[in-house]
Amino acid sequence: MNVLVVGGAGYIGSHMVKLLDEQGHTVVVLDNLSTGFQAAVIAGQLVTGDLNDRQLVCQVLRDHKIEAVMHFAASALVGESVTDPARYYQNNVVAALNLLEAMRECDVNRIVFSSTCATYGIPDVVPITEAEKQMPVNPYGFTKLVIEQALRDYARAYDFGYASLRYFNAAGAAPDGSIGEDHDPETHLIPLVLQVALDQRPHITVFGDDYPTPDGTCVRDYIHVNDLGMAHLAALERLQPGQGIEVNLGTGTGHSVREVIDVCREVTGHEIPEVMGKRRAGDPPELVADASKARQVLDWQPALPDLKTIVETAWRWHQSHPHGYEKEDAVGQSPG
Ligand code: UDP
Repeated sequence: MNVLVVGGAGYIGSHMVKLLDEQGHTVVVLDNLSTGFQAAVIAGQLVTGDLNDRQLVCQVLRDHKIEAVMHFAASALVGESVTDPARYYQNNVVAALNLLEAMRECDVNRIVFSSTCATYGIPDVVPITEAEKQMPVNPYGFTKLVIEQALRDYARAYDFGYASLRYFNAAGAAPDGSIGEDHDPETHLIPLVLQVALDQRPHITVFGDDYPTPDGTCVRDYIHVNDLGMAHLAALERLQPGQGIEVNLGTGTGHSVREVIDVCREVTGHEIPEVMGKRRAGDPPELVADASKARQVLDWQPALPDLKTIVETAWRWHQSHPHGYEKEDAVGQSPG
């Protein structure tokens, strides 16, 4: 299939591009490189441009005879969405609607959309099933929910076939060490802890230990980035005009912040000093997927569900790219 990966230079998108290519699909990446990296695009063809440029999007869809779109390009930090909601409504709603309209104009009606467990807000029941009410507690979750609803309406009215995949915590790196996670600034737990192991940070700050969880720290469901990608492939095969797939993507197992740090100590052999900090605004105590619907609907299950394995893949990447992509480029290694 000819697949357009929007945001394919980002963390999850770049792993998707690699998997699509390995499965024999023809991949075109559209990315404005605002947070992604050219060097992360190790397969397919990169078009550098903005999703708000409808003419460009249409041209890419037509020129490459695109049959399906995967949409990863978005702003995805809960805290930032609270302090700078305009950015989130612009990037996650306006630009995404522009993509949907370009698709309609060019008769492309298949899309896999990156959604999030943040659309649930603070769940009544954990593990979270898809039957949980969607009541986001931050602008990030709201913007993703807007597009989920738009897709339902586009399916009904315009025969779109869509999948809204609600990610839990994406983690890890390509097992072959070729690509990995690089954010600037980094805010995610596992890369931050591994940066402490690399002596790039003095300690990891634990954001609160007074939550109603077994050890008092927040519990999350960490899912390997390749497993997310494999679920997208399964969804892509199952897209049907006028129908939608809405599923959680997690492993179904939760790990506390303390557990994550301990696993990182075990994998890296470093002491990793920790400091107790205050709660981070907007953090629900526990987000764990009930992953049974994805298993059933997509005939998919995580191949790398074990947290230690996930951290091992991340550690391989961080050791070989201690300063991520940019610095590698700066010292003369060729991108991609
Ligand atoms: N966390 C932490 N210290 C940090 C970064 C994150 O204690 O320096 C916690 C955070 O409060 C959350 C968990 O680690 O409970 C995962 O956070 P991350 O930002 O990786 O993902 P999120 O759950 O926000 O999507």
